[in-house]
Amino acid sequence: MILTVNCGSSTLKYKLFSGNVSEVRAEGQISRIGGPDASIRHIAGEFRTDKKARIRDHRDAFALMTEMLHTHAGRSPGDLSDIEAVGHRAVHGSDLFTESTVITEAVIHKLEQTIPLAPLHNPPNLTGIREAMKLFPDVPHVAVFDTAFNQTMPEKAYLYALPYELSQAHTLRRFGFHGTSCRYVSLRTAEMLSAPVTNLRIVVCHLGNGVTVTAVSGGKVADTSIGFATLGGAMMGTRSGDIDPGLVFHLHRNLGMSLTEIEEMLYRKSGLLGISGVSNDMRVIEEEAAEGNARCRLAIEMFSYRVRSYIGAYAAAMGGVDALAFTAGIGENSPRIREDVCANLGFLGLTLDHDRNTDTVHGQECIISRDDSPHHVVVVPTDEEKMIALDTCALAGPGPVSDIKTVKEK
Ligand code: ADP
Repeated sequence: MILTVNCGSSTLKYKLFSGNVSEVRAEGQISRIGGPDASIRHIAGEFRTDKKARIRDHRDAFALMTEMLHTHAGRSPGDLSDIEAVGHRAVHGSDLFTESTVITEAVIHKLEQTIPLAPLHNPPNLTGIREAMKLFPDVPHVAVFDTAFNQTMPEKAYLYALPYELSQAHTLRRFGFHGTSCRYVSLRTAEMLSAPVTNLRIVVCHLGNGVTVTAVSGGKVADTSIGFATLGGAMMGTRSGDIDPGLVFHLHRNLGMSLTEIEEMLYRKSGLLGISGVSNDMRVIEEEAAEGNARCRLAIEMFSYRVRSYIGAYAAAMGGVDALAFTAGIGENSPRIREDVCANLGFLGLTLDHDRNTDTVHGQECIISRDDSPHHVVVVPTDEEKMIALDTCALAGPGPVSDIKTVKEK
């Protein structure tokens, strides 16, 4: 069995896969770690529990996870000695990691060096890795980096036009995020179209609370919308996406906002929430828009327009688009947004089939372009955990097992 672990600042998510990654045996999430009423969800086959308890720290959370996996591990209950390897979601690998890697002391040391680039995410990530290594000392652990796939991007796309020496000295560059999701979705898209990923130009629209549009050409990232931090790019749930950096100076010097206030506004009060004034949740915004709320309509228009603009830019960057793939909460579940995004994309050979777009079934992959559309539009439910498990299996488990090609073999 392969265990995947995703350790956030106050959450621990885990999934236990069968050895060939074809089946999820158990999964769970412990949220609000550190608070008095952490919420705990664990599902294993027919068994499901939702409860609250005091979880002091990540160590407690890991102990609880193992206990629950011991007791209710689905069809193969009890014996965690079956775990062959553990895969970790690693948020930020800077430019030090270009692909998934087996975790050694040297890797941990390098991960410590990346803390300044992701001060909120990498410390809990490291805690998770250390705790899991204590709990499962005899099996290999693998780190799968959210930033690794984007390391395939060319310099012309990832560099900012800042003084070159400064960028080199301090690793000031576009890192991009949601790389594991984009890699999975681009590989699945190629499988769906029965074409090698190396022959395709794909734009992946990962539209969730965080939004990333990524151009994948020949299996490598040609460009991606998010930059150095997780703030730039397309419009997001509460994040502004791209703004002119000059605005920050104006807000500070002429409107008297402190840097902390500006940061808070750009990360938490902007995006869909800032424009709609109602919510960052697209479902709520769509409902309000349908009832005539003009600002919610505007939020939808802006959101779709910006994603569409990135698609146009990336079509130019790649010399065309063979497939457009939608994923994540909004991309997988909102026909309205997919339709808005694809409006006017006929000139790129991307034409939606209205019925296919509205008839998609939650959780299922499907092609939603018309049969006579020269290029394809698809919906692919993302599965970062599966991608992590597949990499883990390929690097440290029984070997590559997948229907999709993952990392290079050992
Ligand atoms: P995160 O980036 O937090 O992982 P998700 O991928 O879960 O985000 O996506 C969350 C977003 O998906 C929210 O804006 C939510 O409203 C939206 N969403 C989920 N289901 C639907 C739906 N049926 N229609 C429209 N939007 C949806």
